[in-house]
Amino acid sequence: MKFATKAIHAGFDYHQHNRAVMPPIYQTSAFAHDAVGESLEFAYARTGTPTRAALEANFAALEDAAHGLAFASGMAAIDAVLRATLKPGDEVIAVADLYGGAYRILDKVLAAQGIKVTFADLSDAANLEAVISSNTRLVWLETPTNPLLGMVDIAALAAIAHQHGAVVAVDNTFATPYLQNPLNQGADIVVHSATKYLGGHSDVLLGLVAVNDAALFKAIKFIQNAAGAVPGPQDCFLTLRGIKTLALRMERHCDNAEKVAAFLQGHPAIDKVFFPGLPEHPGHELAKRQMRRFGGIVTVYLKEDSRAAASRVASRLQLFLLAESLGGVESLVNHSYTMSHGGMPPEQKAALGIREGQLRLSIGIEDIDDILSDLAQALAE
Ligand SMILES: *Cc1c(COP(=O)(O)O)cnc(C)c1O
Repeated sequence: MKFATKAIHAGFDYHQHNRAVMPPIYQTSAFAHDAVGESLEFAYARTGTPTRAALEANFAALEDAAHGLAFASGMAAIDAVLRATLKPGDEVIAVADLYGGAYRILDKVLAAQGIKVTFADLSDAANLEAVISSNTRLVWLETPTNPLLGMVDIAALAAIAHQHGAVVAVDNTFATPYLQNPLNQGADIVVHSATKYLGGHSDVLLGLVAVNDAALFKAIKFIQNAAGAVPGPQDCFLTLRGIKTLALRMERHCDNAEKVAAFLQGHPAIDKVFFPGLPEHPGHELAKRQMRRFGGIVTVYLKEDSRAAASRVASRLQLFLLAESLGGVESLVNHSYTMSHGGMPPEQKAALGIREGQLRLSIGIEDIDDILSDLAQALAE
């Protein structure tokens, strides 16, 4: 099956659910046994429910993976992967330019548990050779990165990590499985904040993990049940519903983002546009190889690098709401410096190039004419 068909049909057999066309919401915490000792596929909702199983199977198909696992949020998914792969004394190497929440859990939670955390610029894959050690168990990647849309070469980095016995996890939230499948490029684990494009309607918080390896699946599934950061059936249902239109939505997000990037490029109020689809983007050639299209996020440096300038533009925007998230049908604007990356130390932000006068635009699927006129009026003198 092709992607758009899998998104609608994979992982759900209506014969097993009273011929319901949509996966029912099994709003129950427990399932009844007929006899003591009877083994059931579903017994207690933390361990699994039919609604969650439908989502996990559907999502696994989208990532061409053997196994999928759902969590209460993207961060819960990241936490489960970190716990399943690292113990005190181990080292994790993470791409330096990454989501603020992932930075926080690595820097504040893992480091305090005796795990060595190294952040590295991996835009040149050879840099991994310089920092990897015999203690490195996990290499954590994000591509494109949040918020500056940096690219890393999954296949090249996975080859180096595997030579050193480390596993590779990729946060695929920005690309979605529609644009990029990291497992097919050599990664071992894929993580998503389904809160973003997969859910797609800014109405649910959920995380997903995909793996092929049976031992990794067992280890992460063990944490899923042992720690219990699982999504409820309603959230699984909403995510499944969102996924059905992922292919259509992503095409429109990509179309609109390409037009927005072209409009902002050279605009007198804009200093720099970050978008992997622009030929001058340093990761453009890699993006063409690694992704099917360039995604729906465009980040800009304003000419005037100040919080006041960012605030002025964000307040003038009418269609774009100023909000934390991304990947929904509606256009959103984010001030990375104080919002998504508010928890990152200022020195780290300076080193990465996250500026006060910077805005991250999540381009929605509204009519492009309305999106462009909103940007034009907000950026006018
Ligand atoms: C939002 C986000 C997360 C965290 O997901 P939540 O669902 O908010 O917990 C992780 N990685 C990336 C790239 C994100 O954008």
